[in-house]
Amino acid sequence: MLFHYKSALTIFALSFLSSISTVAQSSLPPVIEWKGKSELLIARPDNPWITPAEKSNFVTTPGYNETMSWFRKLTAASPLLTMVSIGKSVEGRDIFMIIASAEKTVTAAALKKSGKPLMLAQAGIHSGEIDGKDAGMMLLRDIAFGKKKDLLNKVNLLFIPILSVDAHERSSPYNRPNQRGPQKMGWRTNAQNLNLNRDYAKLDTREVRAVVQVINEYDPVLYMDIHVTDGADYQYDVTFGGLGQQGYSPAISHWLETIYKPSADKDLTANGHIPGPLLIALNDRDFSKGNLLIMGGPRFSDSYGDLRHIASILVENHSLKPFKQRVLGSYVLLESTLRLLATEGLSLKQMTQRDRAGRPAKIPMRFKIPQMKNAVSFEAQSNLQNSDSAVSPPDTLKFSGIASRILKSTVTNSDYIEWLGEPLAEKIANYKATEPLEWITRPKGYWIPASCDDVIERVKLHGIRMEIITQPREVTVEMYRIQDAKFENEDHKTLPFEGHMQMSGSTKSETRKQLFSAGSAYISTDQPLGDLTMVLLEPKSKDSYFSWGFFLPIFQRTEYIEAYVMEPMAKKMLEESSALRKEFEQRKEQDKTFASDPDAILAWFYSKTKYYDDRYLLYPVGREL
Ligand SMILES: [Zn+2]
Repeated sequence: MLFHYKSALTIFALSFLSSISTVAQSSLPPVIEWKGKSELLIARPDNPWITPAEKSNFVTTPGYNETMSWFRKLTAASPLLTMVSIGKSVEGRDIFMIIASAEKTVTAAALKKSGKPLMLAQAGIHSGEIDGKDAGMMLLRDIAFGKKKDLLNKVNLLFIPILSVDAHERSSPYNRPNQRGPQKMGWRTNAQNLNLNRDYAKLDTREVRAVVQVINEYDPVLYMDIHVTDGADYQYDVTFGGLGQQGYSPAISHWLETIYKPSADKDLTANGHIPGPLLIALNDRDFSKGNLLIMGGPRFSDSYGDLRHIASILVENHSLKPFKQRVLGSYVLLESTLRLLATEGLSLKQMTQRDRAGRPAKIPMRFKIPQMKNAVSFEAQSNLQNSDSAVSPPDTLKFSGIASRILKSTVTNSDYIEWLGEPLAEKIANYKATEPLEWITRPKGYWIPASCDDVIERVKLHGIRMEIITQPREVTVEMYRIQDAKFENEDHKTLPFEGHMQMSGSTKSETRKQLFSAGSAYISTDQPLGDLTMVLLEPKSKDSYFSWGFFLPIFQRTEYIEAYVMEPMAKKMLEESSALRKEFEQRKEQDKTFASDPDAILAWFYSKTKYYDDRYLLYPVGREL
């Protein structure tokens, strides 16, 4: 133990020039020394376009102002690069995007017209996980003034260097204790304390609204979101992937698995990196119980992209690898992806068209996951739909692990893990949440009443086509009555999650003739975003507006009846209906509390009258079948 402690300190001192000495950094597991061909990508000190990270030998990353003024100079000096603002944060910072293209005009329409595959890559959605920004700066420099001009012969690139711009400026050496550099890094959530990578379905934040607007406008064929992991130790430095079989885009997933992954793995390996699959330790500690592949739902960028039928890649660089290694790995992956799109862009476009043309008769809302409740982290659990159903047995994953041992804590008096820094080849169980638990059939369309204008507005922001009616219309629709409603905030039962009180409940269908007023929206599911529409509007979906608590007013009763009115009415009702008499007797027998509660009895009769609020607990969105 002493040895590792010491070696960690030595390496720390070497790679960080003793510039930070937080307890957390010196407690990180031993670093595995790394050298790779990708180090040749680093600019020489006399290069006028050397990036701030390169200049510091990857000890630091530049702040927002320094980054953007560097980009301003670079883009002004190169006809291949254009810098545009795609929106402003709550603190007033522009969210910039760089368009890299050899086309003369770079409007969305012109890029579309060029026919070249378009890639959208973003960094800093979690602004402390910033590798992608520094990698993108190097790559764009090399496109503009280095040897990478040819990249733009056959592809176009949109690059967002910092998405969570405000959080990027909440910079500190104390923000990510499990991460090996840079010296200071941004914060995970934005200025409103919202996690941008939980916002893709609900669209609360300006940052994610800006990206979704870019997706709507430019329609990229591939979308990459670059992060850094937390958690367990292993040998891989760059882990990445799409959703695979768990997704809503089977043709795209097949392309990602069979064409993208082998090509990216090959390029990363050739440059000295250690590519791996996306990893979540099932027991939230090590991989002794296996790995778990989850379907997070469209609150996440990758699930969202997949549900929109865009090839979407989540990149998770390993937090315990040094910043330099992670940045270079990101560079290699970005370049590799662009090179592949140059040759395989057409095949990806074909797969994309196939998925966008699909109109599955039913789509899954939830997936089975292994029951290891206490073992799965809160972060994982909050995104999952736990089920008691049995799941498929796992397959086996060849795993490049790191040796570890379990120690007894003198602080908590329980076990904790120590990573030993020694490579280990293992075979581990690989669970995949691929089995649907609940299906929803596809209606012809959905009706959202004008009264839910906020939801209509958000659905529109996704680029979903809709008709806003200008005259009231009566329509026969299926609607849901919500039963057993409860707040659903996972572990933190009564606390809000991402600024919302989440709801769950079961649904009972009713067929109704419903009058929708002018201003109501009709959304056909016969469109490429039809699947997304279903996931946003079906209450069973964990990422629906219902589940995110946008329909809380339906849980309130707002009209009442006085006992002196109800009393004679109840008497008359009993006289007139023997069926009601029978039901009343049964109800009293079954429920003694009810039988002895006059208010409950009158309320029961009230619910049987025409005076009762017919819309109480009625989910106001209608399904036209
Ligand atoms: Zn992240």
